[in-house]
This record gives sequence, structure tokens and C-alpha cells, in this order.
Amino acid sequence: MKRAGGSPTVALNAKGIRMREEGIDILSFAAGEPDFDTPEPVKAAAIEAIRQNRTHYTSAAGTLPLRRRIVRKLREENGIDAVEDGIIVTPGAKPALIHAIMSFLEEGDECMVLTPAYPSYRSGILMAGADFVPVPLSFDSGFTVTRGMLEEKVSPRSKMLIICSPCNPTGHVLTEAEIRDIADFVLEHDLLLLSDEIYEKLVYDGRQHYSFAAIPELRDRVITLNGLSKSAAMTGWRLGYSASSPELARVMLKMQQNTLNCTASFTQDAAVTAFDCTKETEAMRLSYLKRRDLICDGLDAIPAITCPRAEGAFYAFFRIDWKGMSSEELADYILEKARLLVVPGTAFGEGGEKCIRMSFATDTASLQTAVERLGQIFA
Ligand code: PMP
Ligand code: GLU
Repeated sequence: MKRAGGSPTVALNAKGIRMREEGIDILSFAAGEPDFDTPEPVKAAAIEAIRQNRTHYTSAAGTLPLRRRIVRKLREENGIDAVEDGIIVTPGAKPALIHAIMSFLEEGDECMVLTPAYPSYRSGILMAGADFVPVPLSFDSGFTVTRGMLEEKVSPRSKMLIICSPCNPTGHVLTEAEIRDIADFVLEHDLLLLSDEIYEKLVYDGRQHYSFAAIPELRDRVITLNGLSKSAAMTGWRLGYSASSPELARVMLKMQQNTLNCTASFTQDAAVTAFDCTKETEAMRLSYLKRRDLICDGLDAIPAITCPRAEGAFYAFFRIDWKGMSSEELADYILEKARLLVVPGTAFGEGGEKCIRMSFATDTASLQTAVERLGQIFA
């Protein structure tokens, strides 16, 4: 634990909540969390489950109806040849992530991660006693990855590669060509691939999300992570899952049996309904798309700021060239002068220098105010 950091995104979110509770007038763009309410049918299903006394332990891997629904979803929407025994339902995707890392990495192993990246990857790897190997991508090339970049960082100790597409924080959505390069690389170096697909439903401008586990040769070495936090606005419910081969799932299940036991029973019942809320998910996506244009285009028009349009997820990740300030200095300056809570790009590791992340899963009026205030302080 001495090697791991806390989660900067979780800590900043708490800071924003605290400041507002204390009556300090700030707008928070720190948390990556939908501002939408959970769809009504999901809430109704949970209430009904509680009424029916579905309030006991379930099997550690999750209820059979939910695992079957997840298998159907993965087959129909992702082209993954998923099986029930490969699914483990977890309280949020984060435990699935940590279970996978703790299960397959140990001291002496290296895990490669494309950066800027979700900070819990690094902490998880360090908690497992393994070494974190960043593969820094560059802002100027749109955070695209090449085979050469991966080859430069691989070693005989490399055991796992973690990929997140659509990416938190950069918004990059891997192209088919990038997916193919990564797949070849993973096969050639005999790696496990942890594919975090939690933002899969949030892709824009006609882009498409591809799942690594749909590639037959990779099937047995990919652990797919996903959940309902983003797609169904269910962050507080805690519902995620891992999908892998039954062999890998058997190992990860021991983590769940000895720590969380199972995911809340009525949350699982409600989740079965959530997978059918495709209309609601699409309405949210269209709303995020409008907000993306508002914030990204608005910020990009400020001379000191370069803000490309996010290709997916719900974060604006932009560079500010202002008096040589670092990303931490910029975040402090923005909080002090514009009263906006944002995340410094370096919280996501190398490649985030001079960058800021702002969530646009926030109401339009707040986004408009943010653009105006940033325009004033960086004029
Ligand atoms: N992966 C990424 C990239 C995320 O942004 C999040 C959201 N915090 C998670 C995993 C975990 O999501 P949750 O535990 O809320 O399902
Ligand atoms: N996904 C969110 C974020 O990146 C929530 C915080 C977290 O899970 O670390 O802000």
C-alpha cells in the first residue's frame, strides 16, 4: 500500500462535494459521473426486488439471470463468444479491475499501460507488487498508439497490457488499425490484455467501438471490464463485471469470494432491466454529444487553449499554454480565479503535462459558465 497512490479523481470529487457543503461557490467538473437519473424501469425493478425479499447473498459470481443477460449482451452487441462461467458480477467495474490485477500480477511482473490513463490502473499494479510501465502517448498526435511505441516498452517481464477505449481521460477511441496492431502485439509477446470498455456506449461522430475479445485468437487472453455506471447512469448502485475465459474467471472468483462475497442482490435484479434501457442510453449519448460540442469548441476558441473534440467518453482533455504553468499550477489557478474544480492532466500520468480534464457530464449552464470564465482568465 505504501507504493500505491490514492485515487486523485475520487479525492477531487470529494473535495468538490465538501467545498459546496461548506457553502463555497464553485462549479465541479472533477467527477466522471453522469448527471442523469437512473432510468425509471431500473429503479422500479430494484424496489420490487426488495419487496420480494431478494435481500440475501447471491452466488459469488452473480445471479444466473444476470450472468445470462450479460452473456447475451456480449454476444449481440460486442461479438464476443461469451459464456456464463466466464462472467463475474462485481460491485462496480473497479473491483473487477483490481481483482484481475491482483489475480494475475505479482512481484517481478510488469504491466504496460497507455498513458494518460485512469489512475487506479497504476495503483492496482503497485498494490499487487508488480511494476507499472507507462507507454506515454502524445497530445499532438491525438493520443494514438503505434506498434513501435509498444515494442519500445515491452520486456521479458511484461505480463499484462491495460487498454481503455473509449479512453478516460483523453477521449480517444481506438481505430480498427490500432486494435489490430495491439492484438498482434499481445499475441506475439504472450500477454494478458485487460480491456476496460466502460465507456463503450459513448462514441461520437460515427465512430465504432470494437471489443478485443471478439478477435478469436485473443479470446482466451482478454479480460473485458464493463458495467452500468456510465451506460445507465448507475454509479452509486455499484454494478460492474468481468468477462473472460472460465479458466481466468475461476482464479478471479477467489478474490471475490474472500473479499466482497457478492454484489448486492437487488442491484443485480435491477441490472437485468438496465441492459434493456438502450433508448435511455442513446438519449444520454446524444445529450453528451451536444455538451461536448459546447465545451470543446468553446474552449478551443480561446487562444491559449487547444481542445480537440472528444471522440468518446465524457471528458474534455485540453492543453493550456499559459505562462509556462504546469498542469497542477493550472488546476490551482483555475480553482482560485475561476472557481472551477478541474483535474490536472498529470493525475493521469505521463502525456498529461500542461493538460486539464473537465467532465462534460454536467449541465449545459455550468459548461457555458466554465467556457466564459476560462475565456476571461486566459485572455
Ligand atoms: N474504468 C474507468 C476508465 C472509469 O472511468 C471508471 C469510472 N470511475 C471505472 C473503470 C470504474 O467504474 P465503476 O467502478 O463506477 O463501475
Ligand atoms: N470515472 C470517474 C473519474 O474518472 C470516477 C472516479 C474514479 O472512479 O476514479 O472521474
